[in-house]
Order: sequence, then structure tokens, then C-alpha cells
Amino acid sequence: MIPVAGPWITQREIDAVTEATAHGWYGNAGQHVRSFESAFATYTGRQHAIALPSCTSALHLSLLALGVGPGDEVIVPEATWIATAAPITYVGAIPVFADIDPETWCLSAAALEACITPRTKAVIPVDLYGNLPDLAAICAVAERHGIIVIEDAAQAIGSEFQGRKAGSFGATGCFSFHGTKTLTTGEGGMLVTDRQDVAERVRFLADHGRAPGERMFWNTEVAYKHKMSSMQAALGSVQLARIGELVGRKRDIFGWYRESLSGLVGLTLNSESPGTLNSCWMTTAILDPRFGMAKEELIRRLAAAGIASRPFFYPLSSLPAYAGSPQSAPAQARNAVAYRLSPYGINLPSALSLDRATVAQVCRVLIDILA
Ligand SMILES: *Cc1c(COP(=O)(O)O)cnc(C)c1O
Repeated sequence: MIPVAGPWITQREIDAVTEATAHGWYGNAGQHVRSFESAFATYTGRQHAIALPSCTSALHLSLLALGVGPGDEVIVPEATWIATAAPITYVGAIPVFADIDPETWCLSAAALEACITPRTKAVIPVDLYGNLPDLAAICAVAERHGIIVIEDAAQAIGSEFQGRKAGSFGATGCFSFHGTKTLTTGEGGMLVTDRQDVAERVRFLADHGRAPGERMFWNTEVAYKHKMSSMQAALGSVQLARIGELVGRKRDIFGWYRESLSGLVGLTLNSESPGTLNSCWMTTAILDPRFGMAKEELIRRLAAAGIASRPFFYPLSSLPAYAGSPQSAPAQARNAVAYRLSPYGINLPSALSLDRATVAQVCRVLIDILA
């Protein structure tokens, strides 16, 4: 099978993990994590970076540290992985599903504003497939209404909006280093912020509620255990040192698709608005409904030819997981763009191991299927 996603691991990563496995203990314990965090803060232009087991935990701790709790509403885009929304439920708050923009496929600022109620406490815009929403407009709406922005940059390391890195826009920015993401540590995540109080609260919550410098085994709150290991951090540090190369390959893969598919009328690929640098995590194609082919059918046909692909995210409000939510029915009626695009979208193979010839082969099969 031609893989849909996967990392680019070199001998440098293998050597770094081996070194951490041999030496990341005793006096060196914690060193690899601290140096990964510090390089990551510098890369994203943020004051603080905290390494965590996943982006899900980064979103969860963001909500807790920013005081989002029972009864609060938090707005999320319809089209995203459930990990954006699930932590809202963990803290007892209510996810509200807002429509996406037809160009960027990310949260629409107008839809966000229309969903705001007196109970709205925060919004989590998502940098979908490496593209960015209009973050200037979203931050302006949030500021006008006094709501917190938490940026889900899980899919967008290396992307930029008006010269600023993805993850540098909200009160916190959250990243994923899952094996399918552009930068991987196997599993892992990072929370970045400029706020000292938020950084301290996140570190406290991630370490079973013990404050630094306090008596040993003296916990002042019941909290969580969310840590990254030295071996993961060593892997992440090398991947981060190679981030230009990783993002460059993702953009190359997208460019190869764009070139080979440019003659195919009725197929829309990811956009890149002026002022945006799209790190192209997943090359994604949306078919004109006139092809008469739903995404599930296209995925089956590609799989039969040895090509793995994935569906464009189903609108969250359509998932059985949210069938019991009073937010689902109004969202289904309201969020026309997500419901119009999602049935016809797929992620094409975008693994970092792909070369130009493999992408050309995928394009030939796709063109054949749609002919
Ligand atoms: C991958 C992903 C997450 C979750 O990341 P984990 O590290 O798997 O917890 C969150 N949001 C989005 C948009 C993602 O793609």
C-alpha cells in the first residue's frame, strides 16, 4: 500500500534516541525534555513551551489553566479531528460547532461570531491540513467579545500567517507529534504560551499538582500526570532541527500533486491564501459532486489499486459521539459549508517517504477513476 501519512526518520534521529536511552538518566534526567522545549519555544517565537504526551493533553491543560469549566461554551470548527473537541467535554464545558470557510476549510470568522452567546468562554480554531484560518479576523472577533483563543496547530507546524508561526496566535498553541504528523516523537505534544501564569499552572497540573520547590510528595491539588520521556524529546529535537527539510518535502509533495492534477476539472486542492504559508500536512482533494462519487467510494477504489487515503473529516455534529448533544441539530441545520464539502473530500497519500514517481502514479490512478 502507498501510505497516506508517515514520518521521515534518518540516522540522526536513531542516534539521538540511542544516546538518550543510554544516558538520559540520573544527573541527565530531564535534560532532553528541557532542551526540546527551549528549542521549540524559540522556533514558534513563544516564551514558554511545555512537552506533553499528546496534543489532546495540551488542549485539555489549556482549557483547565485558562479557567474553562462546567457550563461554559467553547466554539470549535465542524471539520476537525475529535481531539479538538473532546477535551471541552473533559472539563464539563459544551462544544459548539461552527461552520468552516469554503476557501481555507478552516473556522470561518463570521460563523464564529454568529455562534457567540453570553456563555461563550473560548474558541479553538484549527489549522486544518496545514492551512490557517483568517487568524487576524478570528482574534479580532474573540477580542471584541472577550473570549479566549486556544490554537489547535496539531497539523500545522511550520505554517505561517502574516509572518508569524502557527501556534503563536492564541493564549496557548497546541501541537501534536503523533506518528502521522509532520514532526513526530511517536506520540507526543507541546503547549506553547507567552503567559508565565499559564505555563506555571500547566506544569503544576501535568505533575500531579505539586508545586516546584515544595516538600516532596506534598500535593496541593488532585491533578494529572502528563509527561514526555527523554527518548521522545531526543527524537523531537532532531526532527525540529530538520523542520525546514520536513516542511519542504510536504510542500514538494503538494506541488507534485498540483502539477499532475492541474488538468483535472472539478477537483479542488488545498488553498494558500495571500499572507499564508501552508505547510501542506495532507494534500487534500475535494471532488465536484458532478463526478457522482462519494469519498467512501473513492477511498475504496484507490485502496483496490494499492493506494491508502482518508476521508475529509466528517462534521463533528454528524458523529454518533455527539448525537446526545443539544448542539448537534442546530449545527447540522446551520453549517452548510462543512456539510457540502465533507462528503466529497479525501486526503491523498502525503507520507514523508513519498517520491515524485509515486505521487505521479497516484495521480494516474485518480485520473483513471474519475474519467
Ligand atoms: C492529531 C490531532 C490532534 C490530536 O493530537 P494527539 O497528539 O493525537 O493527541 C488534535 N487536533 C488535530 C486537529 C489533530 O489533527
